[in-house]
Amino acid sequence: MKVKVAILGCSGRMGRNLIKAAHEHESIDLVGGSVRASSSFSGFDLGELAGIGAIGLTAATQLSELTKADVYIDFTSIETTLENIDWCMQHHKALVIGTTGFSDEQVQLIENAGKSMPVVLAPNTSVGVNLMFKLLEVTAKAIGDYTDIEIFEAHHRFKKDAPSGTAVKMGQVIADTLGRDLNKVAVYGREGITEERSRDTIGFATVRAGDIVGEHTAYFADLGERIEITHKASSRMTFALGAMRAAFWLFEAKNGFYDMQDVLGLKD
Ligand code: NAD
Repeated sequence: MKVKVAILGCSGRMGRNLIKAAHEHESIDLVGGSVRASSSFSGFDLGELAGIGAIGLTAATQLSELTKADVYIDFTSIETTLENIDWCMQHHKALVIGTTGFSDEQVQLIENAGKSMPVVLAPNTSVGVNLMFKLLEVTAKAIGDYTDIEIFEAHHRFKKDAPSGTAVKMGQVIADTLGRDLNKVAVYGREGITEERSRDTIGFATVRAGDIVGEHTAYFADLGERIEITHKASSRMTFALGAMRAAFWLFEAKNGFYDMQDVLGLKD
């Protein structure tokens, strides 16, 4: 079985990787994709955009030109994604959202949309990262109360926010497992006389340099030993392939609001 997929945001860094991943995926049938109405790439061949040679599909500027798809994969901007949700709801289509940065109110809105359509909200679609969240939960349960917990992350020089959403989510998973309030126990950076570390805190450290795609490590350190759980992304294809997996899974899902833990069957 093949799932008919359209990519929204085809000219972006992720969009180009998503076209390549969808075109090469054995269970995905890429049926189209969109760029901004004002984009100079309007009408371009999607394969040319992705650097894989012509594939006979041209970049649309309206979702109404892409009705053949069963599942839409959206890596655009917050405003565009919110518009796309409305369209998908009206047309009973499934949507994988990779766009990041939604406010709590906007997440609530997406959750409500899940009552009338299948939607996956996945700020990080990497399969490895989502498996790491599960490993953090297991590790925190076993040794979190007895160890010092620190989270390190590194990204390319163009990244605008810090710490990364994934690092914050790592802290959230650990804090939730240990019954701590991350807002109270998070320490974002240290300088000068910081005094001894308090056991309850969860520290964050950030590096921004060059073209690092994304590295995250959680330390669980005691006297005499430590455990480090690390994920390293070496290319954006990791996010694109995870998005394909989400699209394939979502095609058979009922209306609902899902995340990558649902997609990967990692929920207890
Ligand atoms: P980008 O700026 O390179 O790409 C976004 C693209 O969306 C642009 O080409 C833009 O023209 C296009 N776009 C905007 N409005 C549109 C519209 N109405 N119709 C069609 N296209 C439209 O950014 P990016 O690095 O590709 O990231 C996109 C989003 O995905 C960001 O929110 C980013 O944080 C997120 N992201 C998520 C993951 C993940 O794993 N979920 C991974 C990487 C990036």
